[in-house]
Amino acid sequence: MTPDDLKALIRTIPDFPKAGIQFRDITTLLGHGPGFAASVRWLAGEVEGVEAIAGMEARGFIFGAAVAARLGLPFLPIRKPGKLPCEVIGVDYELEYGVDRLEMDPTAIARGQNVAIVDDLLATGGTALAATELLRKAGAAVGRAAFVIDLPDLGGSARLAAQSVDVRTLMD
Ligand code: IMP
Repeated sequence: MTPDDLKALIRTIPDFPKAGIQFRDITTLLGHGPGFAASVRWLAGEVEGVEAIAGMEARGFIFGAAVAARLGLPFLPIRKPGKLPCEVIGVDYELEYGVDRLEMDPTAIARGQNVAIVDDLLATGGTALAATELLRKAGAAVGRAAFVIDLPDLGGSARLAAQSVDVRTLMD
């Protein structure tokens, strides 16, 4: 399947979650077996060579876990606050629709471990930057991030590049 075929599987919902937002809905891509498989294959190819995959709750879990399983790598869930049962470290950040926080288990990665971030969509880059900061706080080396969708007008890719994260995106 070509990137254009995959793009055709993304549904756009106007005014969700609030007026003026064009929400790019990946559930229609997930609901298409060959499309989902091709997306995971592409993401896995872009991050191959790292030692672990981190994905952000919730849609980053879907793609990140599938990529990790495909590459036989550990998957590290980066969670919303209050979800992990262990001691956590956290980072507060601003996102497109408000303010949020990400948390992780600081013992989940070894110092210097090379971790790639995988998520469904890159907008302002706030979420992925927070995940990068959090992973680095835990001792990880974060040099790459892969996304299914980039919203290039929102500048996330440049913000991540400024933090030495090499960004790969399947479609704009
Ligand atoms: P950012 O932090 O501004 O880059 O926004 C990206 C995060 O918000 C990702 O975790 C996405 O899952 C979510 N997000 C923002 N806009 C959309 C959208 O249009 N569709 C799906 N997810 C979105």
